[in-house]
Amino acid sequence: MGRLAGKAAFVTGAASGLGRAIARLFAAEGARVALADTDSAGGQALAAELGERALFLAHDVSEEAAWIANLGAAAAAFGRLDILVNNAGIGPTGTIEKLSLEDWRRVHRVNLDGVFLGCKHALPHLRAAGGGAIINMSSVAGLIGTPTLFAYGSSKAAVRQLTKSVALHCAARGDGIRCNSIHPAFIATPMVDRMVATARAPAEARQALADQVPLGRLGEAEEVARLALYLAGDESRFVTGAEFVIDGGLTAR
Ligand code: NAP
Repeated sequence: MGRLAGKAAFVTGAASGLGRAIARLFAAEGARVALADTDSAGGQALAAELGERALFLAHDVSEEAAWIANLGAAAAAFGRLDILVNNAGIGPTGTIEKLSLEDWRRVHRVNLDGVFLGCKHALPHLRAAGGGAIINMSSVAGLIGTPTLFAYGSSKAAVRQLTKSVALHCAARGDGIRCNSIHPAFIATPMVDRMVATARAPAEARQALADQVPLGRLGEAEEVARLALYLAGDESRFVTGAEFVIDGGLTAR
């Protein structure tokens, strides 16, 4: 029996990076997992790897109709929905003086509207299952200033706050739904690969990220997945409205 045996999860951004690691670990721990992503090729490849435990759903988190249809499809396929991981996100760089209004809005549409819509439309499904867990992927950029990731930091800070309000709303209703945020930094995923690739010297840029971390390295996606596993399961039943930093000590300085 796995730590999530009998549970069903909906993971956004599941085709890559942190979402993929979370989906793999949840499935290994006995959950059935809906893999929701705009990347159909990556999502279908992971669904094939995970077999009958997984279901790929083409899903854009910024589209309300997609949330309503796909949460319904996952709940119908699995007979229940216990866990939502709002993980999909985008992280274009840009300072306040360089960023266009369109990029500002695009980042917030995906990183913030997506989390709002996910929480809003998942709640009835989680309630129908008798309770559940929502995990929102924020970032250390939601806790400290990030001048070169200006819109990203703003969207992730809002996710931190939204998480606490959802948690208190659910606690007041007594419906057994918990909501927490995860705040990683510098995890080796395609998002970080793309970020360092824009530098003049990518290898040096990658090393410079590791040098900022007291533990001296980038994190691994599975390390974040292990934290998500704790928050998704019953072991964390007294944990809600909380923020979990996983950054090798970066923000302890
Ligand atoms: P990633 O490797 O780029 O994976 C993100 C996945 O989300 C991709 O499959 C992407 O598809 C998908 N996606 C993008 N826009 C979407 C949308 N509108 N609807 C549904 N899916 C969408 O990134 P990651 O590093 O795993 O990041 C996952 C989450 O962790 C993000 O919220 C990110 O902000 C957060 N985070 C990451 C780090 C880090 O160091 N890696 C640190 C802090 C926070 P495409 O590839 O087709 O765009």
